[in-house]
Amino acid sequence: METQFKNLLQVLDYFKNKETCISYLANSRWGETPTCPHCGNVGAYVTNRGFKCKAKECHKKFTVTTGTIFENTKISLRLWFAAMYLCTAHKKGVSSLQLSRDLNITQKTAWFILHRIREMLNSNQSEHLTGTVEIDETYVGGATKNKSNKKRRELAQTGAQYFSKTSVVAMVGRESGQVKTKVIKAGSVKHSDVLPLIQANVAENALIVTDSSTMYGSLKHSYRHEVVNHVNREYVRGAMHTNTIEGFFSQLKRGIYGIYHQVSPKHLHRYCNEFGYRYNTRKGTDIARFEDAVKNVNNVRLTYADLIS
Ligand SMILES: [Zn+2]
Repeated sequence: METQFKNLLQVLDYFKNKETCISYLANSRWGETPTCPHCGNVGAYVTNRGFKCKAKECHKKFTVTTGTIFENTKISLRLWFAAMYLCTAHKKGVSSLQLSRDLNITQKTAWFILHRIREMLNSNQSEHLTGTVEIDETYVGGATKNKSNKKRRELAQTGAQYFSKTSVVAMVGRESGQVKTKVIKAGSVKHSDVLPLIQANVAENALIVTDSSTMYGSLKHSYRHEVVNHVNREYVRGAMHTNTIEGFFSQLKRGIYGIYHQVSPKHLHRYCNEFGYRYNTRKGTDIARFEDAVKNVNNVRLTYADLIS
């Protein structure tokens, strides 16, 4: 692929018409030979409206967008690609209002596009985190966002102040620089929430570093576990710190409060996807991030009805 664009103007120039967009997407999804999205068979007849599976027991029709985030929308691929470029290239994200202005579409359309893109950027399916893994939780939304860290820690100890908030647990592999996030619904995070989550995402031989919250107390039975005691202001003890994960949370919160202003708990996991994706690909170029994002377009089902229900 000879894509070379470095800014939105070049993206729009490159994807100048429908044909270019279709062949780019086909190449990204399948390479040379189309793969049937219904049965997985490699090989298809070209029809005047797309493809027809060559497998006798299937013979179903499909197009380049079947089974992707672009399916069943009236939005052109050119517009989708421009939105994906903007969403993955902007360090702090792009709001639906901004996107609607940039691309001359309604804010409602921009909002829908951005949520589908975020759904797609879910990086949590990747492998278990290994090495030193920092784990922490944060609470998004509501009245305590302007309180000091100390005050928030105190409130976190009681849990009682948090029933109106949404909690996010994040895990970051310090050596790999990869983060995974999980939104836990309203209320304080409990130890029963975190253990299965950690076991599903962190390798058995990892060294886990957390703060002294009691919810991580039982980790020592399953993992090597180091505790940093924030209450006693012991933030850094050699390699035993949670600065990496706190750095991620501060980006997430700056983005949510600064760009998006407020995020409903229902949609928070998608914003976490977006920030996690950008964090995990931070060393790549904008074009690499874009091309990688296009590779994730398969099998994301998120209709407008799902979003507003
Ligand atoms: Zn098929």
